Amino acid sequence: MKKSLNHVNMLSLQIFGRTRGTLTVILIISLLTTTALITMPITGCVYQTETEGAYIKYSDSFFESFDTVITVVAYAKNENEFSDCYEKIRKRFTELHKLFDIYNEYEGINNLKTINDHAGAAPIAVEEEIIGLLEFALKCADMTGGIVNAAMGSVLEIWHNYREKGINEPDMAALPPEEILQDAARHIDIKKIIVDREKGTVYLSDPQMKIDVGALAKGYATELVVSELQKDGNLISGIISAGGNIRTTGKPLDGVRARWGIGIHDPEKPVLSDGELLDVVYLNNGSVVTSGDYERYYIVDGRRYHHIIDPETLMPGEYFKSVTVVTADSGLADALSTAVFLMPCVEGRAFINSLEDVEAIWVMRDGTVEVTEGLKMILRSYGASGSGQDDRDKQDKP
Ligand code: ADP
Ligand code: MG
Repeated sequence: MKKSLNHVNMLSLQIFGRTRGTLTVILIISLLTTTALITMPITGCVYQTETEGAYIKYSDSFFESFDTVITVVAYAKNENEFSDCYEKIRKRFTELHKLFDIYNEYEGINNLKTINDHAGAAPIAVEEEIIGLLEFALKCADMTGGIVNAAMGSVLEIWHNYREKGINEPDMAALPPEEILQDAARHIDIKKIIVDREKGTVYLSDPQMKIDVGALAKGYATELVVSELQKDGNLISGIISAGGNIRTTGKPLDGVRARWGIGIHDPEKPVLSDGELLDVVYLNNGSVVTSGDYERYYIVDGRRYHHIIDPETLMPGEYFKSVTVVTADSGLADALSTAVFLMPCVEGRAFINSLEDVEAIWVMRDGTVEVTEGLKMILRSYGASGSGQDDRDKQDKP
């Protein structure tokens, strides 16, 4: 099945929805030049936009890995070329999902669940992708002072179970008792994830420890997939959005725009609202990743309890509605958006400013918005556009 979307000059993507939540999955393509909106259910259709040059814009989505919708938008010379690229992306995300899965076992594969199930018992031989992911997770814990802690599975599992129950049976919704959380928190020392690159094994030296890579695996996988496709020359101009973790490659090849425009969801608006955006970031070869209190949560006594848990208090972070991080590497953007969500604004700003080529935007609890200085030049609300009429064109080679 094929559909045409004519006269699309600028495109931003927001993907909402979860398999474990109750939300319907909808892909909203917001046509920023016309303020019109197209809302289409994810059905596996290839969407094609006519352009004047040699390239045509296609998009398609799948909903079978990383608990979210993954959308690919790409310029290609023809549909076969796009389909080839799309199928490679889909296949790779499916493989990575199986490796990084903490809930399910797969025949013939040692994954993160296998590692968790053998905590305290035996090192597990794993694929290079798992070694790479866990080395990255250790690095993230180090750079964020332990705020992003992939060894927090024992605590996160408790929240996960209470959230699931609270969503399925709202009348029974309750908070996890503090003693249970404190007990689990005795088993979150990330130094007890022993990664042996030479032997290709991972061992959890605390029998009650569990890995949870929810804070960074989607971004890490997206970065890996993009880098592999770029190396093979399969993706020269496109966007991959893994549940709103967005990574752009090259520049739009419509002969008009110089930069991709990526919409940031306004956390004040309902998740399925018709695309009223907080702002738009214009960038090529970069990532835009948001952590928000509206993404996954349940309600207890009229109060919302979301899924990003402070390792100190063992409770959901309370500083912001959302934090968006913009940087080249999508794994880093994913880890940092979770980390900065759990830091007071002043501290988070100093942390982001200490890192090279990392920018951020905070939506405070009262709805006010803070942005880093460096972000302003690529933000629509500060006058940036995707048109390519300024100095940045020189930096934005496809
Ligand atoms: P999302 O997965 O919704 O895009 P995040 O990237 O912010 O949002 O990651 C949230 C997920 O990360 C949670 O569902 C949980 O699995 C995990 N998580 C929550 N708090 C932490 C934390 N402090 N450190 C590491 N992982 C966390
Ligand atoms: Mg994250």
